[in-house]
Amino acid sequence: MVRHPIRLTAAAALCAVLAACGGARTTQTKAALAQADLPTIGASMGVLSTKEAKQLFGAKSAASGQSPAPYGSYAKGCLAGGAQLPETGPTWQAMRLSRNRNWGHPETVAYLRDLSAKAAQLPGWSGLYIGDMSQPRGGPMLTGHASHQIGLDADIWLRPAENLQLSRKAREQLSSISLRRANGAFTNDQWTPQHHALLKAAASDPRVARIFIFPGAKVKMCNDEKGDRAWLRKIRPWYGHHYHFHVRLACPRGATGCVDQAAPPAGDGCADAQAWVNNILNPPPPDPDAPPPKPRRELVLADLPAQCAGVLTAQ
Ligand SMILES: [Zn+2]
Repeated sequence: MVRHPIRLTAAAALCAVLAACGGARTTQTKAALAQADLPTIGASMGVLSTKEAKQLFGAKSAASGQSPAPYGSYAKGCLAGGAQLPETGPTWQAMRLSRNRNWGHPETVAYLRDLSAKAAQLPGWSGLYIGDMSQPRGGPMLTGHASHQIGLDADIWLRPAENLQLSRKAREQLSSISLRRANGAFTNDQWTPQHHALLKAAASDPRVARIFIFPGAKVKMCNDEKGDRAWLRKIRPWYGHHYHFHVRLACPRGATGCVDQAAPPAGDGCADAQAWVNNILNPPPPDPDAPPPKPRRELVLADLPAQCAGVLTAQ
């Protein structure tokens, strides 16, 4: 699960446009939406438009039969023509099959095939255990994850995949391993050079925009890397992410409805990661002037790009 300051700002802006977050939808709010030049699907979808998007997308068990296309942004969008990562492959296992989240844009599936083949070359690794990707039609989920909505995000377990013939039951019961110590300031004794090599391979792929992992892991890789450091720019420290790392692909070429996130700041980001670690070890006193966190409103269908209504209803 990843939260984005940038997206929160966007959400806050939308909240301001809507005037009353969580309030009743009126023709006024529709007008405000149109005025703000945001796609609105309220008129065409009638009552559906005010339904919680997670209920609508969470109820879909199969992809839409459309051509593959991500619509919207990572934490506010949907996926047309999703592809299913096969539950078992030569170098991977999809985990937690009961969640039915082993879906993504075809480019994501291809990326995971490629990365798992590289993982299988590492000592002690037969491939990858793949956690949550997206729902069959993307969109918000009933549980967990603000992002993973457009088929371009995937969680990859930090536990080496040893057994590639797990039963369905084992894929529910097996747990990943945590690699953090001291609340994420450091890696623990489960961290290996293979993790470094895997993250380096994952980030070096030009299809990748960002990878999220806990701050101590980023600092560890910053300190251990003696060669090319360009890939470190894409490794972004974030909360959680000590049982898995999260790969986010850039919008595929030609995907016009797909909204990329701003690129990470220039440089390897190692100083920022170290600063985060320092804050974990030595927390600054709370800021008495900090504004209270804004309550988050559930996304309704009308909040998503207009194409998502079609994604939902397509055969
Ligand atoms: Zn994730």
